Amino acid sequence: MKQLLMMLVLVQLTFVSCDAQSTQTKEKKITMSEAKKNPVYSKNDSSKVNLSEEEWKKILPSDVYYIARQKGTERPWTSKFEKFEEVGTYYCAACGNSLFKSDTKFDSGCGWPSFYEPISKSSIIYTPDNTHGMQRTEVQCGRCKAHLGHVFEDGPPPTGLRYCINGVILDFEKAKETEKKFNEKKG
Ligand SMILES: [Zn+2]
Repeated sequence: MKQLLMMLVLVQLTFVSCDAQSTQTKEKKITMSEAKKNPVYSKNDSSKVNLSEEEWKKILPSDVYYIARQKGTERPWTSKFEKFEEVGTYYCAACGNSLFKSDTKFDSGCGWPSFYEPISKSSIIYTPDNTHGMQRTEVQCGRCKAHLGHVFEDGPPPTGLRYCINGVILDFEKAKETEKKFNEKKG
């Protein structure tokens, strides 16, 4: 009886340690491949990124590539950022360029994350888009020219603009505690 108990304990221990090991290696693999896969991604480097379509295809996940380089559109209401109210900054998922602050985000009801103002003039490039029988203005990342979405003139004050952005091309980073306090004081 005692022996059987010992064996049971041993078997259980083996399972536990196996589990812990496999999660650990999985986590390591993800971080390593991400760092290696996109060499142009940087939140500090503002120099323009100029890669061939072939190179982009190699370094971007397929859903990001489809939006960024093929000017795709994600299905409405599918982005986790559509109803998302955390305080922080939204970056370009293709290159890390800072695009929007959470305090310029608003609920437009259109099915895509919407903002009324980009972080800076250089965040965004504006291009006329006359496809699909419409006259629209396309917005692209100011650093890597990734397609982000479109801008419309039916937004809230102070700009009156609605930047309608595909959530797939957004990377969110939560504000640090000190930054949050600073913003609270300011507002
Ligand atoms: Zn970019």
